[in-house]
Amino acid sequence: MKINPDKCVACGNCTYVCPVGAIYIDPVLKRATINRIECVECYACFNGLSKEHLSPSLVRTVRKLLHLGRVRFDPEPDICPTAAFEPDDLQWPRVIRRAFSDPRATHESTGVQGRGTEEVKTNDVTRRVMQGEVGFTIEFGRPGIGVWLRDIQQMTWALAKAGVAFEKRNPFTLLMTDVTTGTLRDDILGEKVLSAIVEIKVPIERMEEILQLVHEVEKDVDTVVSIGVGTRCDENGNDPAVAPILERLGYKLERAKTNTGLGRISNPDALKPVESAGAAR
Ligand code: SF4
Ligand code: SF4
Repeated sequence: MKINPDKCVACGNCTYVCPVGAIYIDPVLKRATINRIECVECYACFNGLSKEHLSPSLVRTVRKLLHLGRVRFDPEPDICPTAAFEPDDLQWPRVIRRAFSDPRATHESTGVQGRGTEEVKTNDVTRRVMQGEVGFTIEFGRPGIGVWLRDIQQMTWALAKAGVAFEKRNPFTLLMTDVTTGTLRDDILGEKVLSAIVEIKVPIERMEEILQLVHEVEKDVDTVVSIGVGTRCDENGNDPAVAPILERLGYKLERAKTNTGLGRISNPDALKPVESAGAAR
């Protein structure tokens, strides 16, 4: 994303909408400026502010006159008065920033918008997590911090070493050059995104070990890490296997999302009978 310095009138409205604080008023230029290293190409500034097309020179003149009368030029807070934002023609690998950060962008690899994965939310039809398994969504960078992809690799390396199964329909798995080591493509490691999710699954007996591993690695990762747990319930909608372990470890459980199992199976690999038609949560 760029701000056209010929158009910007430094009203400052956009500095409040950038989720990662990448926009600042340059004290020398006296224009809003984007820190391109930190910008995750989320388009919140471009899409989130209404655009007016006032003449920049007229606005600057009016502001000077108002200033003489000790009155401040103060446009409505949700507009860019001079439509100064100009999206870049994003090329690889920078385009990956937008793919993970703009909820309107669709991931080419999975056809899913946002972080590019349906997660375990659709487990009733995708059957990512089967009976006896526990699925983890390991989320980086949210809210409002972002994450460098080289930091995510720290986690995928550790998880691969522990022998977990990475979810095939997740963009991060598809960005690995070697799934057995959890190594991501070299050319994306210097990119930053608003948030991203790594998905894995293991047999339920390994759940405590994996939670401990994620907890250890996240200490060395320079962002916020959240973890979600998904499992299949029994035919009565209960979860007798995973919940007791989490409670013993001190977690307070809340059911986030429950799928009822009424959809048509969309995962051809999983079209084999399962022990229970129970739901995932
Ligand atoms: S909202 Fe527009 S005019 Fe105001 S500081 Fe930002 S880019 Fe400049
Ligand atoms: S595209 Fe997103 S991250 Fe970049 S400057 Fe705009 S709001 Fe900030």
